[in-house]
Amino acid sequence: MIKHKSLQHVFVDSFPSSLEPGKLYVSVEYGSVAHGCCCGCGEEIVTPLTPTDWHIVYDGETITLHPSVGNWTLACRSHYIIRKGEVIEAPAWSDQQVAAERRRDGRAKAAYFGTTQAASPSIASTAVTPERDAPQYLLSGNIGWKARIRRFWTKIFR
Ligand SMILES: [Zn+2]
Repeated sequence: MIKHKSLQHVFVDSFPSSLEPGKLYVSVEYGSVAHGCCCGCGEEIVTPLTPTDWHIVYDGETITLHPSVGNWTLACRSHYIIRKGEVIEAPAWSDQQVAAERRRDGRAKAAYFGTTQAASPSIASTAVTPERDAPQYLLSGNIGWKARIRRFWTKIFR
């Protein structure tokens, strides 16, 4: 269930230590967006803006975040789309769908950060891709989503 059906965006340099529910914090400085989970569970969600992660569209009045936000590692497992400041509930994913998305994400990063075997559709080849030039928080290879977000938070909230 979605408690916060719209999000008011706020442009910030760095994120506050606690995120106000119903707000979407955008930091160009850190290239990321943060918000409290729209289900109201209180978890804080950071979505990094990179060519292979999320991107935003700012139309001067509202923010669209793409792709959807899937909080698979949280107890709530909420999944929603943030479009023009509105929060649209999306169907929960199965474990298989989550696993498939992680593989797709791994392939996309491997392709973007450029290793020769990265273009291979083989799943196995992406599991150990050394993304040398990627910032630490992007080394998502085979670590979990939560650990990745934690790493990211550790990096920006020191
Ligand atoms: Zn939640």
